[in-house]
Amino acid sequence: MDRWSGHADSGETLYRPWVGGRDQNLSQRAAPVQFRVPKLSLDHECRCGFREQSGDDGRAHADHHATWALGVRVPKNLFWPGDLVVVTTQSPIAWRRLVYKVAGLPQRENHYDFRSWSHLGEPEETEDNVRAYLLKSNGHVVGYLTTHDTDHHRPWDLIDESPLGGADDTLRPRVDLIWVADNYRRQGVGAMLVQALADDFGSPVAEVSWSTPISQSGLQLARRLSPDGIWVS
Ligand SMILES: [Zn+2]
Repeated sequence: MDRWSGHADSGETLYRPWVGGRDQNLSQRAAPVQFRVPKLSLDHECRCGFREQSGDDGRAHADHHATWALGVRVPKNLFWPGDLVVVTTQSPIAWRRLVYKVAGLPQRENHYDFRSWSHLGEPEETEDNVRAYLLKSNGHVVGYLTTHDTDHHRPWDLIDESPLGGADDTLRPRVDLIWVADNYRRQGVGAMLVQALADDFGSPVAEVSWSTPISQSGLQLARRLSPDGIWVS
């Protein structure tokens, strides 16, 4: 039995002398490190929405932060050909659970009281066709859009503080929420998701409606996709 590694030679492999353990010598006669108290507080809320409590070892945040940055790992038993999937309230529970998990990230990041997905019971049809788009990359869900159809809209010319136009009762898909994993932002993921939503609905992307209030990043995206004005609801 090797004294440092606990490795016991099985006798079947060629004997190799243990060459590790050099650290033992490298710390001999070393001077101890010195400790200081920093005049700086790093106790703030992270961009992922996590606020560490004093006394945490940081592991819970590290796990959450990695998921926020890289996306939610796709369960291995989920058969997912292609990279884009539409999950409805009638989809198998594994898919609806995955949406629920992803929905926890924008909830924490933006301090929403409620998750944007809650359909975890029996499969059931919704009147307004609630559904979620998930985009996969490198085995992780990196993009999320949740939507439902509604017929209460007003046009907005996208000019700050300009009033909304008159009521419109055309049935349109409404973007309820878009979230993209941090490492994948500013690469067109949000635009692709909205385009996919419009394509599935069979309408131009400018016909999609946006839920208000629109976040700063949502507004940028809406302007880019529909510079002449958007529908809000
Ligand atoms: Zn973080």
